[in-house]
Amino acid sequence: MSLSFDPDTIPLPVGHLIGGELIPAEGGIGMRRPSDGKSYVACPVAGIDMVDRAVESAKAALKASNWGGVRPRERTKALQAWADLIEAEAATLARIEALSSTRPVGQLVAGDIAITAEQIRFFAEFADKEGGDLAPTDDGSLGMIMSEPYGVVGAITPWNFPISMAGWKLGPALAAGNAVLLKPSEMTSFSAVYMAQLAVRAGLPAGLINVVLGDGPTTGTALTGHPEIAKVSFTGSTCAGSAIMENVARTGVKPMTLELGGKSPQIVFADADLDKAATAIAGSVTFNAGQACVAGTRLIVEKSVAERLTAAILGKMKAVRPGPTWDATTQYSPIISEGQRARIDGIVRAAVEAGGECLTGGHAMDHAGYFYEPTLITGVDQSNPAIVEEIFGPVLTVQTFETEEEALALSSHSTYGLASGLFTSDLSRTIRFARKLEAGTVWVNRYSRSRDHILPTGGYKRSGIGKDLGREAYLANRRTKSVLISL
Ligand code: NAD
Repeated sequence: MSLSFDPDTIPLPVGHLIGGELIPAEGGIGMRRPSDGKSYVACPVAGIDMVDRAVESAKAALKASNWGGVRPRERTKALQAWADLIEAEAATLARIEALSSTRPVGQLVAGDIAITAEQIRFFAEFADKEGGDLAPTDDGSLGMIMSEPYGVVGAITPWNFPISMAGWKLGPALAAGNAVLLKPSEMTSFSAVYMAQLAVRAGLPAGLINVVLGDGPTTGTALTGHPEIAKVSFTGSTCAGSAIMENVARTGVKPMTLELGGKSPQIVFADADLDKAATAIAGSVTFNAGQACVAGTRLIVEKSVAERLTAAILGKMKAVRPGPTWDATTQYSPIISEGQRARIDGIVRAAVEAGGECLTGGHAMDHAGYFYEPTLITGVDQSNPAIVEEIFGPVLTVQTFETEEEALALSSHSTYGLASGLFTSDLSRTIRFARKLEAGTVWVNRYSRSRDHILPTGGYKRSGIGKDLGREAYLANRRTKSVLISL
């Protein structure tokens, strides 16, 4: 069966999901489909009352089910059943997502959804393996480090990989014994609602995952400032991350995981496999049209091979073919909105005014929907807007170096430190760079995640605080209590 579909025929779960019930709401934020610009639905906006109701429902679900206190293996089994159902319903989930987002339906089923199910199973397995500890004390005492869930965790996710980002937050928080109040991006809300409905169908207690829809200033602020939300897990822009820190500081104190923006370098030495590097680099800026936090948007290449490598990357960038997200064969995504496309274009223009030269691209595509041409800019220095700003679009800059020191200096960004790529065949240099690069991830001779979910992801500098994925993400959803007993 083809996954392609007619976008006018897909029913969407429009409403907040509280206690397993879909709560429809009037009005909201008008949405347009990125693939054709057609208006299709209004996203409801939850106010404080609705957020309160969702928190109360989550607390009641925790109490009634004793989710945090049951035999941990019960949580493992329940989450595995949910992952199984997500896979079984992948086509429906993918269509809901593809309709409103930039993710093509084919990539969703084979990639985002399959990987999300796998990651939920990965986190489910931690439930009965990671616990507290005994402290070394004298014979007259027993010291225990107890590990406990927080209670209700608040999660806020962006629009660029809505299902994956929801999975990154829900998997570890639920496995660790918490309930979650999730606010997806107002641009791409409905796949999260459907995922939570699937959780109820799979047997997870209703109310364990509640989803409130809405924007950042209204719903997000109500969620992060809510006194009964014990921890906040956020993925989005550095600007919104700062606003959340401010709100949390103003309304109380609670732990936060913040996965924020990036402006990641890819450094290529002359001794690298250049064909492999060209494929990885072009892929990283055209995948999801560059709308990825870890997109490797700054190419820093050794001067002697710069021309050859740039030509190879150019060829690959020019070869992309745009298509609507509801066509199963589409590879190249639209930009999420007209506003975001205009922002990309504005930065590209400013980059050219500041001395940059577009070797390809630099314009909106002549195609229905919000597509933007893959763009390659040379002649940029460290103060050029295309180097300074996170563009969040298919734009690659090229800078050259002659020495390792120069390469390192160019790779360092004043604001961000999310990911980095290194292409070389020199092992000693690999280790030197892995130690010195200021980023939470260093990919060597590749530029993409693998399915090794044990590797945590997160940023240095203003790219964030804490990690998603890996053991760290699970432990970040538990807190410890020291118990000292005099015997
Ligand atoms: P955004 O910051 O505009 O919005 C993200 C989410 O935060 C949305 O749900 C939004 O409604 C909410 N929000 C906005 N302001 C808020 C506030 N004051 N209080 C509470 N919630 C608020 O980001 P976006 O445009 O949706 O996504 C793109 C950004 O996300 C990029 O900067 C990208 O780098 C980043 N991102 C980071 C990672 C990572 O793992 N580090 C992953 C994906 C995306």
